[in-house]
Amino acid sequence: MQVIKEVSSLKEQRSSWTHPVGLVPTMGFLHEGHLSLVRRARAENATVVVTIFVNPTQFGPTEDLALYPRDMDRDLALLEHEGVHAVFAPPASEMYPEGYSTWVDMDGVTSLLEGALRPGHFRGVATVCNKLFNIAAPERAYFGQKDAQQVAVIKTMVQDLNMNLDIVVAPIVREPDGLAMSSRNAYLSPTERVAATVLCRALIAARSLRMGGCSDAGAIRTRMSDIVKEEPLATLEYATVVSPVSFKDLGSVEGSALAVIAVRIGSTRLIDNMLLD
Ligand code: AMP
Repeated sequence: MQVIKEVSSLKEQRSSWTHPVGLVPTMGFLHEGHLSLVRRARAENATVVVTIFVNPTQFGPTEDLALYPRDMDRDLALLEHEGVHAVFAPPASEMYPEGYSTWVDMDGVTSLLEGALRPGHFRGVATVCNKLFNIAAPERAYFGQKDAQQVAVIKTMVQDLNMNLDIVVAPIVREPDGLAMSSRNAYLSPTERVAATVLCRALIAARSLRMGGCSDAGAIRTRMSDIVKEEPLATLEYATVVSPVSFKDLGSVEGSALAVIAVRIGSTRLIDNMLLD
């Protein structure tokens, strides 16, 4: 497995890769959710490239950039075991050198929910993904449904800018008690870890209401927020029902609908989502 830290070396190496190439962008501290993307990419491509980059431009000034969990040695061992061909793990100065000045700014989906609560987040995400797509030139890039709004942003960018790759989306991998796997789960104390199941409990309740015939998105929202309010360690940021494409709130649920939730457990911010149809 090649471990590459410079853009120029990756561009040199890529001429020797067998196609198709599958790219899996990550911020490292890998778990089974990340590895599910890697395995899918391995099954569908001749060459798999994983990027490990804690992208500073997608973190707000008060967010957890400095504290974000990292374990490069463990990550590399896991990826080697999965048969990954190359890992791209650049320092921030390689991606954003002195004088860096180009950004991908998008309207619409980037202004809602995560975009509204984390100003600049999707500008950083779209910019770094655009750069990674240009550097690795993959035929396919793999993303998790766990970050559903990120998926909508990347798909829109790829379509709007006529980019030459397919975006493949893989399902959310959960712990046995339902908690969606996330590198940020490492911040949770044992009691917080138990409380964190409130996100998926609220989503399951939303889906049960819908399956029982409820098409009133307002009633589904109320049910989710009531469940979060019952959990003393949880602070609700949002729990709503949206279109999985535009992320606009739905009034009534007829076709495709996504329940999305963001909750703080202590100081740890967690997100999750579930399709209601
Ligand atoms: P991150 O390292 O958190 O930026 O995540 C890298 C990729 O892994 C993103 O496309 C995420 O959506 C995806 N991912 C993270 N957690 C999960 C999970 N529990 N199940 C599936 N994919 C995930």
